[in-house]
Order: sequence, then structure tokens, then C-alpha cells
Amino acid sequence: MRKILLVTGGSRGIGAATCILAAQKGWAVVVNYAANAKAADDVVAQIKAAGGEAMSAQADVAQEDQVLAMFSKVHTTWGPLHGLVNNAGIVDVTARLDEMSMARWRRMFDINVLGSMLCAREAIRQMSTRHGGIGGSIVNLSSAAARLGAPSQYLDYAAAKGAIDSFTLGLAKEVAGEGIRVNAIRPGLIDTEIHASGGLPNRVKELEHLVPAKRGGSAMEVAQAIVWLLSEDASYTTMSLLDVSGGR
Ligand code: NAP
Repeated sequence: MRKILLVTGGSRGIGAATCILAAQKGWAVVVNYAANAKAADDVVAQIKAAGGEAMSAQADVAQEDQVLAMFSKVHTTWGPLHGLVNNAGIVDVTARLDEMSMARWRRMFDINVLGSMLCAREAIRQMSTRHGGIGGSIVNLSSAAARLGAPSQYLDYAAAKGAIDSFTLGLAKEVAGEGIRVNAIRPGLIDTEIHASGGLPNRVKELEHLVPAKRGGSAMEVAQAIVWLLSEDASYTTMSLLDVSGGR
């Protein structure tokens, strides 16, 4: 049976690597994006060129109407989901707490926390045996920042990822008896464009000396762990917070 996977923020970075690897493993992949349609279409084209199945779907995960429309479009086109990767996430520029605005915190939590909760809710409505589904797997993108706290850089981001950890633990227990596994990945310093979006394009190079493995990680190294958690090879793994951080 064809299995359908939705990856939020699948157009770039860790999300794009996850889409490409999951398609290689046989998933039919929905590549979600917020603004950059071309990047999402490029991922879809790459998957199709390799013989896989993919479609792109726009939705800002923090906008309920857009998320509902996306889940409905996927269901109508391909049927119910079997996997969700809550990958869409943002950072912001370096600042201390006493320099941050409420507007910044709201955006940080709307996208990084409420967006993941909203997509998980819609996925569970399709996957849960309680709702007539056949089960599935959800992987949330947390961060090593949830443990490290990111002081004097972006502790609002760290706090949002801490919320993702708690959300993962609770939801995993809530739906474990309904055929759904829920896990989180906590990446460390990974070489993607997210650092430039926070004004620090060289962040990985500048901080890699702090990593016991002495290097940053690649998006594909994180994708390998995500796709394993999605798969039946991880059939008894739920409620885990998996560090993919080179020991940091
Ligand atoms: P990235 O390269 O900046 O890519 C972010 C992706 O998320 C893009 O596809 C972007 O789409 C999408 N996105 C952003 N806001 C969105 C929204 N409101 N709705 C839907 N999609 C949205 O990021 P990344 O480094 O791959 O990070 C992926 C995840 O891993 C994030 O949750 C991040 O917090 C986490 N993480 C990353 C690192 C790291 O070092 N890179 C470390 C720890 C955790 P558009 O281009 O269309 O905006």
C-alpha cells in the first residue's frame, strides 16, 4: 500500500532532505512550504525525476485556514496520511530577553509550537484508529537549544523547542493506543539557510569547535534519523527525544 507523508517546510534544508530520502524509501511525499514555491517545486521535480511521487502544497503552518485547506487538498487528492514531519520552523536575530518584543515571541511560538500542534491535530484526525484510520507516525523537529537554552542569542526559540519536547512526550502517550507513534529529533548545529535567516550565515563554522564531533551536521544526516523514526523499523519507538547533534 502506498504511504503518504506530509513534511512541513519541505522546500529547503532538513525538510527538503527528508522529502528526498523518504521518497527514495517509497513514501508519496507532500512538500509543504510557506512562501518559496520555486524551492518546493524543485524538490518535487527532483523526486519525480528519480521515479518517486510528490506534490507541493502551500500553507503557513501558523494560519489555521491555510493548514485546513492543505490537509483537505491532500486527502482529496491522495487519501489519508500515514506520516507527518513537523519540520517548519524559524529563528530570529540575536537578542537578549530584555531586548525582545511580544510580536517576536508571538511569531516564534505561533510558527514553531502552535503550527506543529495544529498539523499534528489534523494528522491525528486522519491517522488515528479512533477516527477510522490505520495509524501512523509523527516526527517533531525540536532542537538541542531546548537543552542548551540559547542564552543571549534566542532563548525564545529554545523555549519554543522546549515546548515541542513536552508536546511530543504527552502526545505520544495520548495516541500510543491508537496506532500512532510520536517522536522528536533534536538537531544540533546543522548546515542550512536557517542561520542566515537569523543574521548569522557563518554560525555553523563559528561554533563547530564547541561540538565534540568537531563539525556541523548535514541536513541529510538529520533526515536519516527522521526517516528511520517514520519507518516500521522504529515500530516500538515512541515518546523518544533523539539528539542528532554530534555529541553537543
Ligand atoms: P530552513 O533551512 O530555514 O528551512 C525552513 C523551512 O521551513 C523552509 O522550507 C520554509 O519554507 C519553511 N517554513 C518557514 N516558516 C514556515 C511557515 N510558517 N509555514 C510553513 N513552512 C514554513 O530550516 P532548517 O535549518 O532546515 O530547519 C528545519 C527545522 O529544524 C526547524 O524546525 C528548525 O528549528 C530545526 N532545527 C534546525 C537546526 C539547524 O541547525 N539547522 C538545529 C536544530 C533544529 P519557505 O522557504 O517557503 O519559507
